[in-house]
Amino acid sequence: MKKYVYLFKEGAALEMPLAKKKELLGGKGANLAEMTGIGLPVPQGFTVSTEACTKYYDDGAKMGDDLKSEIIENLKALEKITGRTFGDPKNPLLVSVRSGARESMPGMMDTVLNLGLNDEVAAQFAADTGNERFVYDSYRRFIQMFADVVMGFPKSDFEHRFDAIKEEKGVELDVDLTAEDLKEVVAAYKDAYKKHAGTDFPQDPIEQLMGAVGAVFGSWNNDRAITYRRLNDIPGSWGTAVNVQQMVYGNRSETSGTGVAFTRNPATGENKLYGEYLMNAQGEDVVAGIRTPNPIDTLKDQMPECYDQFCKICDTLEEHYKDMQDMEFTIEDGKLFMLQTRNGKRTAQAALRIAVEMVEEGMITKDEALLMVDPKALDQLLHPNFDNDAYKAAKSVAVGLAASPGAATGHIYFTAEDVMEAHENGVQDMILVRNETSPEDIEGMVLAHGILTVRGGMTSHAAVVARGMGTCCVSGCGVLKVDEEAKTLVLPDGRTLTEGDYLSLNGSTGEVFAEQIKTVAPEIGGNFATFMEWADAARTLKVRTNADNPRDAKQAVEFGAEGIGLCRTEHMFFDEERIFNFRRMITAETVEAREEALGKILPYQREDFEELYRTMGKYGVTIRFLDPPLHEFLPHTDEEIKPLAESLGMSFEALKARVESLKEFNPMMGHRGCRLAVTYPEIAAMQTRAVIEAAINVSKETGTLITPEIMIPLVGEVKELAFVKKTVVKVADELIAESGLDMKYHVGTMIEIPRAALTADKIATEAEFFSFGTNDLTQMTFGFSRDDAGKFLQDYYSNNIYEHDPFATIDVDGVGQLVKLAAEKGRATRPDIKLGICGEHGGDPKTVEFCHKVGLSYVSCSPFRVPLARLAAAQAAVKEKLGK
Ligand code: PEP
Ligand code: MG
Repeated sequence: MKKYVYLFKEGAALEMPLAKKKELLGGKGANLAEMTGIGLPVPQGFTVSTEACTKYYDDGAKMGDDLKSEIIENLKALEKITGRTFGDPKNPLLVSVRSGARESMPGMMDTVLNLGLNDEVAAQFAADTGNERFVYDSYRRFIQMFADVVMGFPKSDFEHRFDAIKEEKGVELDVDLTAEDLKEVVAAYKDAYKKHAGTDFPQDPIEQLMGAVGAVFGSWNNDRAITYRRLNDIPGSWGTAVNVQQMVYGNRSETSGTGVAFTRNPATGENKLYGEYLMNAQGEDVVAGIRTPNPIDTLKDQMPECYDQFCKICDTLEEHYKDMQDMEFTIEDGKLFMLQTRNGKRTAQAALRIAVEMVEEGMITKDEALLMVDPKALDQLLHPNFDNDAYKAAKSVAVGLAASPGAATGHIYFTAEDVMEAHENGVQDMILVRNETSPEDIEGMVLAHGILTVRGGMTSHAAVVARGMGTCCVSGCGVLKVDEEAKTLVLPDGRTLTEGDYLSLNGSTGEVFAEQIKTVAPEIGGNFATFMEWADAARTLKVRTNADNPRDAKQAVEFGAEGIGLCRTEHMFFDEERIFNFRRMITAETVEAREEALGKILPYQREDFEELYRTMGKYGVTIRFLDPPLHEFLPHTDEEIKPLAESLGMSFEALKARVESLKEFNPMMGHRGCRLAVTYPEIAAMQTRAVIEAAINVSKETGTLITPEIMIPLVGEVKELAFVKKTVVKVADELIAESGLDMKYHVGTMIEIPRAALTADKIATEAEFFSFGTNDLTQMTFGFSRDDAGKFLQDYYSNNIYEHDPFATIDVDGVGQLVKLAAEKGRATRPDIKLGICGEHGGDPKTVEFCHKVGLSYVSCSPFRVPLARLAAAQAAVKEKLGK
């Protein structure tokens, strides 16, 4: 029979690489097993595997009897290990039940603590420990969590009852409630439970346990977990494991406590133990940010032995995992226990510093360092900081914790929903201001440029999530008063800000400003430069950029781009004077009139290309010929058509008729791309002239011979390409011959129509290079409009039909297959054919890895994604080398 449940010590003994162990036992379970294996003090327990979760879903969200028996067997084994018995009032085994996916998804799934308590156990346990207050505090927490997580009853009902008792007793803090008060809370909670459930709170610990395990499995598919997975590229098929672990109590006494720590500073990367803890508290108190914790350093004075032991454990763990660790620990009556460890989330700055320093310390190789940094994290480094002068002139109104670096300025909103609504209304910069955030806020947090919370430490939900996303965050700014319902923020100086007012945050210092402060692009250097040098040495894929103006091209070169993979020429026509001549060209009714208008556009195009060639120097520039449907360039309403008709010297009726005639039902599948050049070869002739003349001029000017690359879009049939190419070659050859230069040039095509991919061997007879236009290729392969699919894709995610936006990450099974096939067919005809990708996917790490695997020569992406693509390309090469 298949094994679904593993004691931690069985997990430790499994002979498989850690990555495989994580697949089976989830990250948390695998790491508990590892810590058990290396002899660290871990409260013992067992892990119900991710395979059990998958089976649970295969069986229609049910736990089978076999799984239940296996859990009970392991419970018996755990009783033996701990010397305690589940449900025995005399010597009770109490457990926590926690989720643990292959990759950590902080706060997204469910946890139940103190499980195994019931009326009888609580009474006896209280008598035996002599600590009634602690026992009833644990019991009330358990009932509330069980009601929320397992039964899905509203939290607020329990919270209101709790607050009512606090008010009745006249206490402000939870810790001021006495044992007797807490008994009343327990009774009130049980009453609330019965009201919702129609039955009493379950007294049978086995029933409690099975309910909790099932609830954790169920939480894998809650809305926020699905959203988190989509944002973090985590497949829904992985499932979560469930860890059942003996409880240890940080709230048991004054010599008990609980904390969270990192082996290195997660914000800066400094190699110094970093963390915080609370005495006489449970873990949720630290994370929830209800009490503000102490920095870990003070534990040295408070409990020196525990502190020393903890420091040693940190060294052991770093040495074992060869990565910075994020740990949870509990001290129970002076004894230290490790509750979990995992590779710590960190800012991009910290990630680079840790990777570089660990290589310098001799702990890891450069290849390992390259795999340690998430390419998407590099994005953080490229985001804005405050303009120095504006920053100096600004005056902070409060200081909180510097939870996630960077700078943000924007309008304030008090709920995640309001941020989402503002985004829909076109507001650009939003700052989310909350007392504290919770996982339900995730969508608003993703959209916000900055996050400010009144409560919570560096490990609070807001801080952890913001760091992961690279969003600037100030947490724990307790001097502010936020009323989320009234939507007001009261500053320490008494001023009140309301929704929409400006606020600025410095996530690197914790400062808060009640004003707008100019932000600027960041400077990069130091560890970034060292690390990216290693990446460049490791990668084989080249990285180009999509740019159609010198500013973007320059930015991309600064970020390490090695050429332009896509210059969309249509973007050059939107300037006022140009669009006029362009419209003249479109509305022209004879070839002569069209050529006359094109003649006016030519100098602009040539100048644009000259500037690009100058900016790109030695690097290649692929210029794509006109692509969009012409109708996009024309006005649509009578009010707009009238003045244009006048300036073009046409009658209103004639222009209107021409506009009408260009209208298409399905323009993205209409008269666009190379089809325009088939109808109007003079457009291709003008563009060729502009490209070649610009190349000749700049070659002469700089003394470096340019090799122009001309790319024909939307080809689906080789004869189409041959037809357009004839015009290109004729014009180019004549100009080059006149110039006296020995200039070469290449004519290639985009592969963005399925038919082009399927007939790529034929197309390669004419095309010297292919660039995969995966935006259109995705659109046409799926039959989804790239402009509208967002409206219904959400339904596909929530119904688990698709997990990712296929316009963001390549659909390997479908679109990817076409890319692979076309690459093979292209090479079969022309072995040295140059292959690249220039759809949005070129800046997506998973797609970059795919491109490496299918042997493309380069990826091309927007300038700000160039560093990300360089690292993703390096990782793909390293993984291949290491056989990962
Ligand atoms: C593409 O289709 O992938 C592409 C790069 O071209 P565009 O986005 O301009 O259609
Ligand atoms: Mg396209």
